[in-house]
Amino acid sequence: MTGSLVVVGTGPGNPEQMTPEAAAAIAAAEDFFGYFPYLDRLSLRHDQRRHASDNREELARAREALAMAAAGGKVCVVSGGDPGVFAMAAAVCEALEAGPEEWRDIDLTIIPGVTAMLAVAARAGAPLGHDFCAISLSTNLKPWHVIEERIVAAAKAGFVMAFYNPISKARPNQLGAAFDLLRHHLPPSVPVIFGRAAGRPDEAIRTVSLADAAPEMADMATCIIVGTSETRVIERGGKQPLVYSPRSYRGGSA
Ligand code: SAH
Repeated sequence: MTGSLVVVGTGPGNPEQMTPEAAAAIAAAEDFFGYFPYLDRLSLRHDQRRHASDNREELARAREALAMAAAGGKVCVVSGGDPGVFAMAAAVCEALEAGPEEWRDIDLTIIPGVTAMLAVAARAGAPLGHDFCAISLSTNLKPWHVIEERIVAAAKAGFVMAFYNPISKARPNQLGAAFDLLRHHLPPSVPVIFGRAAGRPDEAIRTVSLADAAPEMADMATCIIVGTSETRVIERGGKQPLVYSPRSYRGGSA
């Protein structure tokens, strides 16, 4: 008997930023797989079972969830933010492609969520108002030279960049290296937004210039948005500045 597998994104942390579609899918599922802090954020009922795991075990977790769904379970895989952005939906697809033929019959649904860069951008203004891209700085799944090449290409092409997984205890030096690289390709005045724990009680949003951007301003819960030479900062007295990237191209180098 084939069951169902739903991959949901819970949004950045604030329950109000979880979509009603995700909340309904969670209410309908029986077995939950995910990184334990994400499962902790759900208020599961007594009849709903938790299968928490570490965040390095994504492929194994995806296989377990698929196997349970193939055996008839009503399974939910949980990601923070959006499940398709540096998260479980791709791991589930990868496991499904390599797995037994019958996994392709599973009723699979992927439910979108508010990803971190959108939550941070909304707090700061509209920094993603023109073309942008998202880059994970983690070297767990790709080599550093590829990350460097993508950062330089994005800077040269005039994309605003959102950095996910910017720094960790195991990778203390890469964010500083990324800022140094950017300083060779972008003017020092380009705004850099450090959005920490957006939507959670310990949220902190801070905007500095690229010249002043430092790795100590970020931790693992931070999404960093690097503007372009077109991105503007509107100072507003005691209030947070408004950072936005104009919709229309005004020319000039990136
Ligand atoms: N699927 C998630 C991203 C997972 S990768 C999403 O769509 O948001 C984990 C990275 O996401 C973190 O290192 C951080 O860069 C970012 N992140 C997740 N939640 C965040 C939040 N509430 N505020 C700021 N950044 C966040």
